[in-house]
Amino acid sequence: MLGRFFKARSVNAGVPQPLGPEHASGTDRTMMARAIELARQAAAAGEAPIGAVVYETASGTIIAEARNTREADADPCGHAELLAVRAAASATGDWRLNHCTLVVTLEPCCMCAGTLLNARVGRVVFGAFDPKAGATGSLMNILADGRLNHKPVLIGGVEADACGALLRSFFKDLRARKR
Ligand SMILES: [Zn+2]
Repeated sequence: MLGRFFKARSVNAGVPQPLGPEHASGTDRTMMARAIELARQAAAAGEAPIGAVVYETASGTIIAEARNTREADADPCGHAELLAVRAAASATGDWRLNHCTLVVTLEPCCMCAGTLLNARVGRVVFGAFDPKAGATGSLMNILADGRLNHKPVLIGGVEADACGALLRSFFKDLRARKR
């Protein structure tokens, strides 16, 4: 059962797939390590372990970072990548983030993928695939839909095993506590 969640690769061959992890740059991997650290902090705070970083693609400078806050804030929109993108736009004083890369430990959901489009994020790099809610390669791929007006570079499966292991262990503990 648990094996179905948070995989290293998508299972849906009918959906346009992201570029593989071999396309990630050294900076992408450094930022993913930071996102995983943020995900660990989320788990320690009782939140789903998901972390995100927005960095300026050319310079590698971190502009914003965030982790899930849905439980603490009772906020259905408290997803790491959505919060990181909003913080980055706020920090730069511009809602357009074409010059930025968003790195997140879990495949974005449809809400977050929509936000990434609206922010015109230039590059999107994610860790584990989410077969139950992923909207950038698993259930659908909003970021590869040519009918929409923005198509970021999309890379998936970066450090997928580490990202997925954090999530699996978190939800396993959660279920054990509820028993
Ligand atoms: Zn989301």
